[in-house]
Amino acid sequence: MESTTTLPTAIDKSSHDTAIVVPGADPLEVSYEQLAADILELQRKLADLGIKRADAVSIAIPNSYEFIVAFLAASTQRAIAAPLNPAYKQDEFEFYIDDLASSLCLVPKGQYESNSPAVRAARKYNAAIAECYRKGSRIYLDVKEKGKLEQAEKPCPILVAEPEDVALVLHTSGTTGRPKAVPLSHRNLTRTMKNIQETYELTRKDRTMLVMPLFHVHGLLAGFLAPLRARGSVVVPDRFSAGQFWKDFVACKANWWTAVPTIHQILLRSPTPSPIPDIRFIRSCSSPLSPKVFHDLEKTYNAPVLEAYAMTEAAHQMTSNPLPHKGKRQPGSVGTGQGVEIKILDEAGEELAQGKEGEVCIKGENVTKGYLNNPKANKEAFTASGFFRTGDQGKKDGDGYVILTGRIKELINRGGEKISPIELDNLLATNPKLSEAVSFAIPSELYGQEIGVAVVQKSGQHVTEKEIIEYVANKSASFKKPSRVWILEDIPKTATGKTQRRKVAETLLAKDT
Ligand code: ATP
Ligand code: MG
Repeated sequence: MESTTTLPTAIDKSSHDTAIVVPGADPLEVSYEQLAADILELQRKLADLGIKRADAVSIAIPNSYEFIVAFLAASTQRAIAAPLNPAYKQDEFEFYIDDLASSLCLVPKGQYESNSPAVRAARKYNAAIAECYRKGSRIYLDVKEKGKLEQAEKPCPILVAEPEDVALVLHTSGTTGRPKAVPLSHRNLTRTMKNIQETYELTRKDRTMLVMPLFHVHGLLAGFLAPLRARGSVVVPDRFSAGQFWKDFVACKANWWTAVPTIHQILLRSPTPSPIPDIRFIRSCSSPLSPKVFHDLEKTYNAPVLEAYAMTEAAHQMTSNPLPHKGKRQPGSVGTGQGVEIKILDEAGEELAQGKEGEVCIKGENVTKGYLNNPKANKEAFTASGFFRTGDQGKKDGDGYVILTGRIKELINRGGEKISPIELDNLLATNPKLSEAVSFAIPSELYGQEIGVAVVQKSGQHVTEKEIIEYVANKSASFKKPSRVWILEDIPKTATGKTQRRKVAETLLAKDT
């Protein structure tokens, strides 16, 4: 059998099955055969421009068929695809384009004319600039400036990707600090595709509703590449919209989706379709899913909810809860390692006994070889036995299921008592008056750190600081009692829907001074 350790070999080019469905005003349905032809055509255009092995191609395009073809064409040409959030400001584009010394920046039609932030940033770092757009099913590449490609040897031949080529560079979400650049090889990506396909038994009968952005591993690997390996199909709206979600889901006959808990919660607050369509499963990943939301989802949509755990450095998925016929789902747990080895290690790198809390560490073919240009982070990231340190604290229960208790940098240390912010968030999620809650450390003269919580009230509800403190005090040990409560209109999040606990704390405390 042909090996499937590169993106082009993992995708069946000869199939007439549908690969991509684009809903909306300019709808499109594309077979695998057509997708392969479109990729080859764009790959030729990139080669003509002089794009070759290890050139970085920044893709600042929203979720779309153009994005998909551009991503696969660049990585097939042995270049490094570098998707960027199209909503970035100029400074952010500059940081990413400079960090990778991008050769080319792809933007949507009209952005050259409007001199968009991506265009200005690309010009500043002398990257070539091209608009990439679609008319019907054809993908066009309109080169506006050649930048450093002016000097490239042209045309470059059509190249064949190798498993160890870097196919993708993404930056971590920057939840705990400055985002780090993570190179992922074809081998890393195809391994995750296989792991995810096997975990959820994805087949050609499955149709994914893609709601996560393609510029992060969650949307790219779980929402798009894994389904393609399974020869299923993917519905690709340009963005997530609660008002549109069920219309597209039903009209396009999707049968599962994967998203962050924030999106699941937005859906739960939106009208439910009647009748509820057949949903094979709902996957939740990237942030903690509280047991309360888990149960609400299962009840509302009559479908199993499978929480998974992932990170950029692992090309997304590490663990997951199983499908119902394979085992039990454990609310509050992220399940077991999927095609990877997961160990809970102490600081010295020794494995801890079941039930003991330590750092979650992972080994697998999906894990990056190391961050770009960051020897210090790389030295700290791997143990002597080659395990990658996730920076997350957790433990394994009696069945080997992993329970995450928080990021090591975000654990609350109250006079030596370690408190899991995730556990407190989960407890506050059960308060019927609250729609959201986040817990974090605040500095304390007496204890070093104490507990702060920020909460958002459900509309029409009213809570007081005292009520929140008592709510926690009545349900947990006294050292877990918050010492301050902020009642907010909303809690800011990163582009991937994550809460930056330390940033929330810093912002709130800065208002005191
Ligand atoms: P940075 O590394 O720049 O601080 P980040 O860690 O948020 O940002 P990502 O790679 O997008 O960047 O996210 C990986 C992290 O997300 C994991 O290390 C973990 O802390 C968190 N995470 C992922 N899935 C879950 C989950 N199911 N429950 C709790 N946390 C999760
Ligand atoms: Mg991280």
